[in-house]
Amino acid sequence: MRKTKQKELIQEEVEKIKTFFTAEELLNKVKRCDKKIGLATVYRFLKELRNTGELHSYLCNRKTIYSKSEDNHCHFICQKCGQVKHFDVKSIDFLKIKEDICHFQIDVHGTCKKCLKEN
Ligand SMILES: [Zn+2]
Ligand SMILES: [Zn+2]
Ligand SMILES: [Zn+2]
Repeated sequence: MRKTKQKELIQEEVEKIKTFFTAEELLNKVKRCDKKIGLATVYRFLKELRNTGELHSYLCNRKTIYSKSEDNHCHFICQKCGQVKHFDVKSIDFLKIKEDICHFQIDVHGTCKKCLKEN
């Protein structure tokens, strides 16, 4: 019975979040209502939501982040200074992928403008 309550609580918090979030951020929110909820429970729940397609996950700064929308997450990573910039890609139709695309992530590596100037 308690397990179900915890799930409901986590679900409620997930519904309130409008942006990308990490498991830790979600844990901090649910802990305000129930201190007994641990990270393992949150991870299990997030995994379930990912399996059912309610959540989508991306890798950002070596951390898994989650989103409710079938969005995309794209980085430009500078190989010199390590700076990460986020950018949006509207469509990847040009890739001509025949599979059913849910969401995507693109990592572009290079040299940022600042590092180019310094050279
Ligand atoms: Zn997805
Ligand atoms: Zn990112
Ligand atoms: Zn740079």
